[in-house]
Amino acid sequence: MDDDVEHVRVAVIGSGFGGLGAAVRLRREGITDFVVLERAEAVGGTWRDNSYPGCACDVPSHLYSFSFAPNPDWPRAFSGQEHIRAYLERVTDTFGLRPHLRFGAEVQQARWDTEARHWHLTTAAGEFTADVVVSATGPLSDPKIPEVPGIEDFPGAVFHSSRWDHDLDLKGKRVAMVGTGASAIQIVPSIQPEVGKLTVIQRTPPWVMPRVDRPIGAAERWLHGAVPGTAKMRRGVLWLIREFQVGAFVKRPKLMKAAERVARAHLRRSVKDPGLRARLTPDYTIGCKRILLSNTYYPALSQPNTEVVTSALKEVRGSSVVTADGTEREVDAIIFGTGFRVTDMPIGDRVIGSDGRTLSEHWKDGMAALRGCTVDGFPNLLFIIGPNTGLGNSSMILMIESSLNYVADYLRALERSGAAALDAKPAAVTAWNQEMQRRASRTVWNTGGCKSWYLDANGRNTTAWPGTTAEFRRATRQLKLSEYNLLAPAGDKPVTAAVTGRSAEVAS
Ligand SMILES: Cc1cc2nc3c(=O)[nH]c(=O)nc-3n(C[C@H](O)[C@H](O)[C@H](O)COP(=O)(O)OP(=O)(O)OC[C@H]3O[C@@H](n4cnc5c(N)ncnc54)[C@H](O)[C@@H]3O)c2cc1C
Repeated sequence: MDDDVEHVRVAVIGSGFGGLGAAVRLRREGITDFVVLERAEAVGGTWRDNSYPGCACDVPSHLYSFSFAPNPDWPRAFSGQEHIRAYLERVTDTFGLRPHLRFGAEVQQARWDTEARHWHLTTAAGEFTADVVVSATGPLSDPKIPEVPGIEDFPGAVFHSSRWDHDLDLKGKRVAMVGTGASAIQIVPSIQPEVGKLTVIQRTPPWVMPRVDRPIGAAERWLHGAVPGTAKMRRGVLWLIREFQVGAFVKRPKLMKAAERVARAHLRRSVKDPGLRARLTPDYTIGCKRILLSNTYYPALSQPNTEVVTSALKEVRGSSVVTADGTEREVDAIIFGTGFRVTDMPIGDRVIGSDGRTLSEHWKDGMAALRGCTVDGFPNLLFIIGPNTGLGNSSMILMIESSLNYVADYLRALERSGAAALDAKPAAVTAWNQEMQRRASRTVWNTGGCKSWYLDANGRNTTAWPGTTAEFRRATRQLKLSEYNLLAPAGDKPVTAAVTGRSAEVAS
């Protein structure tokens, strides 16, 4: 093998919650021969990249953290970005992950080598080969900025919410905020008091619920530290409440009416101007798009220096933003809160499977992965937060930890089988995906009458998990070997492998 190529048992891509969680899990499984390839210069993923004013989680911190790394010191019910980022740095140190990290190592290509039966990875920090690749590149990692004619000639500052320009002083400036999603509703109340004029460009109003946030006092934090069972109980209650809510999202969207009443009352209480209230009232079922939590968004929109334009951004003309309804406003800065590339995972263009096609080509009709984790024709490639694993109302860390269970069982099965690789059977992936689509068809994301990032360009729901987190935990607890073809080590004859008491034929 080429001296310049480092071989590892496992290459993990990404160092957010998913990649760091995978690293902890690998070490716990006794696997130390692995690297974590990260394109940036620090760990943290979402919580490193999103440093915009007001950035915080919208699932309570005691649930939005690893079960194996409880943090009794969360300062608020919904902690801010700097605290979540610091938590992930601590996890990295506590679990001894630093030696595995490779920063500045953007994966430019990962190609399955059919002869050698391993992955060949080309990164910005050199070449690697790996028996197994765990992709944790994140569902909300690559910003999506619409193509707007004239933007390249705009003389002011232009940036995406996840790439905040901290050198820019917004004080007294005229600012256009494009988009009204989860990031925008945290940014708007944070910058409104200091900017001169804020123009919020809204295509679709979000449903906004009250945010039941509060500081977690010293006594409470002490209790969680001294009696860890109390923090565990708190996490359990937060989890259970959300598990009970899932039915309304995935089976009986009509039940969402109750939540809609709360959101309507919140809007009525917060916005006195009936004209503005009308512009802020959604016309789709609550939950169809992500439900947002804020007590400060509506009051900020009611301030005299804020204007809500209810039309899509059409072009930038000189230093003005122009919307489809002809509204034109001169601004000094444009901030895009327009979301991320979710349904067309960017890593898909860079991963090449056993038939020489990229994952994006393989997924041209929509993303699909067996149990959200594996794809036929892409042996020994596992996803953390793969297709149909996103949630509408609970913590993504629960889904990440379930995928990690699957990764661990996958590696054990691989070891026991004597196979070089497992390749998901096309029929198993198809059956899983059909079940996902069948179940998704009755969810609020499909039936709620909105256009959201849960649905792909073909209108298929390839992102949301249509069940409870407990169901996903069960589905990923154990690998079913019958769902896989086994590939023998390079040059080996077919062998029979005893795996978890069953026999499986290993193909050469
Ligand atoms: C502002 C914001 C708030 C959120 N709040 C919540 C919340 O309250 N609750 C919740 O459940 N979820 C929330 N989410 C969703 C959040 O993305 C997930 O909860 C979780 O952080 C995802 O972790 P991850 O490791 O999968 O991805 P990420 O955190 O996105 O990490 C992916 C990593 O992969 C790296 N990477 C990507 N491509 C490559 C490549 N080619 N080569 C090398 N490295 C690469 C990236 O640099 C990044 O470090 C939020 C998302 C955002 C954007």
